[in-house]
Amino acid sequence: MEKKIAVYICTGCGIGDALDIEQLGKIATDENSIPICQKHSNLCGQEGVDLIKKDITDNGVNTIVITACSHRVMYDAFNFDNCIVDRVNVREQVVWCQKPGEEDTQMMAEDYLRMGIAKVKAMQLPEPFKPEEEISRDILVVGGGLTGMTSALEASKAGYSVVLVEKEAELGGFQKNVKEIATAPYKDIQDNDIKNLIDAVTNNTKIKVYTGATVERTSGSPGIFKTVIKQNGSNAEHRVGAIVLAAGWKPYDPTKLNKRLGFGESPNVITNVMFEESYKEGRITRPSDGKDVANIAFLQCAGSRDPKHLPYCSAVCCITALKQAIRVKRQNADANVYMVYKELRTPGQSEDIYRKAQEEGVIFIRCQDPEVKTGEGLTVEANDELLGETVIMEDLDMVVLATGMVPVSAFGKDITQETKEEGEKKDGEELEVPLDVIRRSNLLNLEYRQGPELPALSNDFPDSHFICFPYESRRTGIYPAGCVRRPMGISTATGDATGAVMKAIQCIELTARGAAVHPRAGDMTYPEFNMSRCTQCKRCTVECPFGAINEDEKANPLPQPTRCRRCGVCMGACPERIISFKNYSVPMIGDMIKSIGVPEEDEEKPRILVLACENDAYPALDMAGLHRMQYNAWVRVIPLRCLGSMNLVWIADTLSKGIDGVLLLGCKHGDDYQCHFIKGSELASIRLSKVSETLNRLALESERVRFETVSITDYDRLPALLDEFAAAIDEVGPNPFKGW
Ligand code: SF4
Ligand code: SF4
Repeated sequence: MEKKIAVYICTGCGIGDALDIEQLGKIATDENSIPICQKHSNLCGQEGVDLIKKDITDNGVNTIVITACSHRVMYDAFNFDNCIVDRVNVREQVVWCQKPGEEDTQMMAEDYLRMGIAKVKAMQLPEPFKPEEEISRDILVVGGGLTGMTSALEASKAGYSVVLVEKEAELGGFQKNVKEIATAPYKDIQDNDIKNLIDAVTNNTKIKVYTGATVERTSGSPGIFKTVIKQNGSNAEHRVGAIVLAAGWKPYDPTKLNKRLGFGESPNVITNVMFEESYKEGRITRPSDGKDVANIAFLQCAGSRDPKHLPYCSAVCCITALKQAIRVKRQNADANVYMVYKELRTPGQSEDIYRKAQEEGVIFIRCQDPEVKTGEGLTVEANDELLGETVIMEDLDMVVLATGMVPVSAFGKDITQETKEEGEKKDGEELEVPLDVIRRSNLLNLEYRQGPELPALSNDFPDSHFICFPYESRRTGIYPAGCVRRPMGISTATGDATGAVMKAIQCIELTARGAAVHPRAGDMTYPEFNMSRCTQCKRCTVECPFGAINEDEKANPLPQPTRCRRCGVCMGACPERIISFKNYSVPMIGDMIKSIGVPEEDEEKPRILVLACENDAYPALDMAGLHRMQYNAWVRVIPLRCLGSMNLVWIADTLSKGIDGVLLLGCKHGDDYQCHFIKGSELASIRLSKVSETLNRLALESERVRFETVSITDYDRLPALLDEFAAAIDEVGPNPFKGW
């Protein structure tokens, strides 16, 4: 498309008071020969928007630079069909954070307009990605337990057909062995009505159920997944648009527990799951001789919240134990029922079940480290923290250990090392990439170059971003739900199932439109590869955090756009710089950097480039402006989709241009990560560690380039951080490339 560029400058929100608008307009008209440059005192209002629309219809304008507020606001007002639009943020990041009427403030605004013009010149109109195959709107649900069945029903209610695969011979999962439940309204224990759910699923014509079946193979990508289901030795193929993984959990192996808890020493020391299975049969009896239970102790957190076993809380054991204790009391009101706990966790309304157990006469003992003795009789010794004395529970018929939940994805061989493949070493430079933890658990059997199952982040849960994006996994279009995602009880799992299905539907519908799913929902761009210059170095395939790029036998990348999150990490990784998006590319950012005006050394106006992650750092800078916090006027900020999309050539471009310092603002990484693209920020810091070599080559000081992690709530410390970096750059002195 031949571009017809127009620049619009808003003078409202204090912009016109702080800047010389006529002078600013000359950056468009005189410096860049852009014929249309209009000013308006309220550009986002109807009159201002109509002004732009008139230029589109009457003057053929198709490329628009809005010089006004941040792109994070007023996006609906400044949304023009079939036009390239960029927003130059002179409100939050110039006039609201700088002194009005000052030369430095004016220079900053002018640079931002230069950068905006350079950007739109390099941008192209996005075109949606449409796969050749027709998009399937069916949903595959793996797991026929409570979560899987709820997912299937919810999807069918929304009008989507479902293929439900259950490995056992019957639907129902763990819950089908549970006689009574303690869930909402939590006033008392209730009969388990899982049978009704099974019937609803079985009789639903939109749900195709496979029992005694497994997923043999899953290939393709969102919208165009192909799945092979194996049942009774034969295979069935289905095309699906998205997948809900509701494969459930298994109890923690009690043989791994501390011997102090007595498992394996007496048949009367059992787990909560074993209790559940026996009480389904009717009376609760002593395993060794079938005698009715008169004295029983429940020991909580048997392995859970223990760094040597399961470091997390298994969420349901306390409520389950309360239910079981009430059941014993109802069978024999005179029974001595003890509950030994570290902390009893009954969040929300489940507190009512705790009260109910108290009313029924269950005795509670708070103790961190009880000991089970299995000599003559069965005894538990517990140091009661509240009484401050040792309590001895003698002549017990049974001890029930509350073992926790382990996601089924945790079982199977750890193939993390096998899936690691190093790219070609460039100039002796190691390709270091944080490894994805993947096990061969045979749940999905993905034909993904990066491994056959969902990668786990911690404790084998295939979660992706627990802070911002629950239900997401590291594989687009595949949503874990229920206890495979994290330990949870019935009501939470029911809500989780619904949430995961909503994500699956969102994925299908956005994919059908050719748009990104999340977190850049609606983005119509996707990475395009100029394969004629590819050296098959594998960096893009190895570094993509989402497994979106397969590979042929010659190591050519095979991008799968509907799996892609549009983070640009591959673009940052590619040493040949051949990956680009229609509106985001290595040359585009390079042109923006090159457009920054760099004053001569004797003007004593250093320049600092800030490459800021647009998920947290850039909004934090906007918030600093919103709070009218002032910071150094030497900075020029460019937002990046993710700091992982940073290509090292930008650092070289910046320093060779004479800019004095580069500050990278990305998200926290490590266990407490907050990066929206999981590994992007970490990859950026790994890449940056190699920059010192470049700096040495340019005979520059390494202090000129710094990496900082910030979250959106750090806005109040950003001005001080920028000022301190500016002072450090001032100390180092001018970039020797200035003026070249
Ligand atoms: S690195 Fe990001 S942009 Fe590139 S293919 Fe993977 S998900 Fe897509
Ligand atoms: S596209 Fe770039 S990163 Fe990927 S293999 Fe080719 S040269 Fe390497």
